[in-house]
Amino acid sequence: MVSKHEKELGALTREIIACRVCSRLVDWREKIGEQKRASYKDWDYWAKPVPSFGDPEASLVLLGLAPAAHGGNRTGRVFTGDSSATFLTAAMHKAGLANQPNSDHIDDGLKLRGVYVAAAVRCVPPGDKPTPEEQRSCLPYLARELNLLPNLKVVMALGHIAFRATLQTLGEMAGEKLRAKFRHGEVYRFGPSLPMMVASYHPSPRNTNTGVLSMDALVKVLDQAKKLSLS
Ligand code: SF4
Repeated sequence: MVSKHEKELGALTREIIACRVCSRLVDWREKIGEQKRASYKDWDYWAKPVPSFGDPEASLVLLGLAPAAHGGNRTGRVFTGDSSATFLTAAMHKAGLANQPNSDHIDDGLKLRGVYVAAAVRCVPPGDKPTPEEQRSCLPYLARELNLLPNLKVVMALGHIAFRATLQTLGEMAGEKLRAKFRHGEVYRFGPSLPMMVASYHPSPRNTNTGVLSMDALVKVLDQAKKLSLS
């Protein structure tokens, strides 16, 4: 039987998919979907806001920046079909959070265990750089999602933009401005009424190809976040 919060998450997902608030991002996501990358010319691109994905009973949320042009914006699932997805899913599999090490397309059989994956901005931004106004416009969706996860204990922010989005959202939930400095692997506790926050570098090629973030380092932080979420 589908629980009340699952139904509400489903309704929120449908609302997100239909969103056209940010005109620049609407134009960009649809333009990419029409032009396509040559290697995906036979794909029917998703080209809409990319909804979150995972276990509705999750106690851990992973928050990324935004869908990739030819990843989530093509496949319709967050962290799916691009190199960041490949790196993150392999790490989640090693940490026991995913049933398989690959995230290729929406029917690839991937299942997440106790974890829910979302993005701070749901539409692909040009140059992976959403404007402050676009970030502000999309943020309420995150607060609503966090409130619909009854077992939530930890939000792990992947990269600086996700870190700021999490901090702002938790601050709004608490009714006060929260301050914290990004440090990879750091755990932030804001009191018993709020989920804990964990910071990690984003698994983008810019970080994983340059040694800023290794597979072992990401698995270590995921392990830590998982333990906290189950404690
Ligand atoms: S980025 Fe968020 S608020 Fe803006 S159009 Fe996409 S879903 Fe809507």
